Amino acid sequence: MTQKAVLVIGGGIAGIQASIDLANMGIKVYLVEKKPSIGGRMAQLDKTFPTNDCAMCILAPKMIECANHENIELLTYSELAELTGEVGGFEAKIVKKARFIEEDKCVGCGDCAEKCPTKVDDEFNAGLGQRKAIYKYFPQAVPSTYVIDPDRCRTILGKKCGVCEKICKAKAVNYKQKDKVLAIHIGAVILATGFDPYDVAPLTEYGWGRIKNVVTALQFERMICASGPTGGHLRRPSDDSEPARLAFIQCVGSRDIRHKRYCSAVCCMHATKEAILAHEHYPKLTSTIFYMDMRAVGKGFQEYVRRAKSQYEVEYIRARPGRVTVNEESQNPVIHYEDTVKRELGVREFDMVILSQALIPSESNVSIAKKLGVGLDEFGFISTPEELINPFGTSREGVFGCGFCQSPMDVPDSVVRASASASKTAEVLARVA
Ligand SMILES: Cc1cc2nc3c(=O)[nH]c(=O)nc-3n(C[C@H](O)[C@H](O)[C@H](O)COP(=O)(O)OP(=O)(O)OC[C@H]3O[C@@H](n4cnc5c(N)ncnc54)[C@H](O)[C@@H]3O)c2cc1C
Repeated sequence: MTQKAVLVIGGGIAGIQASIDLANMGIKVYLVEKKPSIGGRMAQLDKTFPTNDCAMCILAPKMIECANHENIELLTYSELAELTGEVGGFEAKIVKKARFIEEDKCVGCGDCAEKCPTKVDDEFNAGLGQRKAIYKYFPQAVPSTYVIDPDRCRTILGKKCGVCEKICKAKAVNYKQKDKVLAIHIGAVILATGFDPYDVAPLTEYGWGRIKNVVTALQFERMICASGPTGGHLRRPSDDSEPARLAFIQCVGSRDIRHKRYCSAVCCMHATKEAILAHEHYPKLTSTIFYMDMRAVGKGFQEYVRRAKSQYEVEYIRARPGRVTVNEESQNPVIHYEDTVKRELGVREFDMVILSQALIPSESNVSIAKKLGVGLDEFGFISTPEELINPFGTSREGVFGCGFCQSPMDVPDSVVRASASASKTAEVLARVA
């Protein structure tokens, strides 16, 4: 039987936009997100280039629209187990992981997390700061329901505790909750699984993990964000002091035959944005961006770079630094580089270094591609066999892709591709129904 329903996998900005568009066309959508909340990477950003709009102010209304839409069923903390059938008549099995919290009872008050005795590194804050074993993924999470981390909860691990159960007035804690498998019937699937940051630890020459004041761009986004672990105050990890000189190193793992050969597409602009934001917070702060080529091809991007130079004390040096050492006394990172415009070798000391790490396809793409029977390209992005005439199609009929899971792209491009894939999906459903 043909189904006028769509499964969207991945609740970042691309999956959210595709879901809203389909739902507004009267099509039932199941939006499956593996994390406890929808929002994706955009929820981790402070502002967005090139307008410097607050990322959460744009994202949050869309997250709420998704949750409240009568045609959208949100399945968070869930993953696809299996897909059978064909376009117009697929059956998907979805595993809804146990939150150990009754979703219909939790009021999101947070009393449980306040009293929970177990602290864990906070993944949402890119490892900066800590959360509790019972936690809300981030303050504006949708749904606003708490979740218990079964690998860290003392009670679930068989130790003495039970604090959250005692404190919860809504009686929402349920340590015995089990994973559930749901079977849903859909006519088509849209993949929007996004990206993960590349692990920069193996690039030892840049000092991440060895030099305290070297952080990644995603960590920097969390640091400068008012709802982040430092409340938006820039602090050096080594001594909690305010940095005055920042350096950004571009293409860390990208465009590098030893790591990822492709361009991650958004880093020239996010480094420029982060340097501008830092200067807005601290008008005496200066930034130096070490880049290979400036990729400022979007609308208003070149102008953004020009303003960074003229109004925000941002200096650009065309160089791929060879190594970062440390001044042991000050813990300042020291960058060794060759300026390929001036043809000079240089050594410069900074208060903090930010690495624009390569952005790679979601680590789950390999398993999800197998379950769906779709192909991946040589880098692990969802392949589009007919890129020129059907840029949303995958190698399986009725399964589409959009956003960063297809190739590196920024938020506006992800939204464009999401809306376009939604309309293509609707057209296919209308044809086979
Ligand atoms: C440091 C940094 C700063 C940036 N700044 C900007 C900026 O200022 N402006 C801009 O336009 N862009 C910026 N970007 C790029 C922006 O983050 C991406 O364009 C955008 O997040 C892509 O959206 P997406 O929905 O495709 O992917 P994502 O945001 O990665 O969302 C994918 C979602 O899919 C979920 N998922 C993954 N696998 C599965 C699975 N198997 N099952 C279920 N769910 C799954 C993930 O948990 C996630 O929620 C920045 C990126 C970085 C790293």
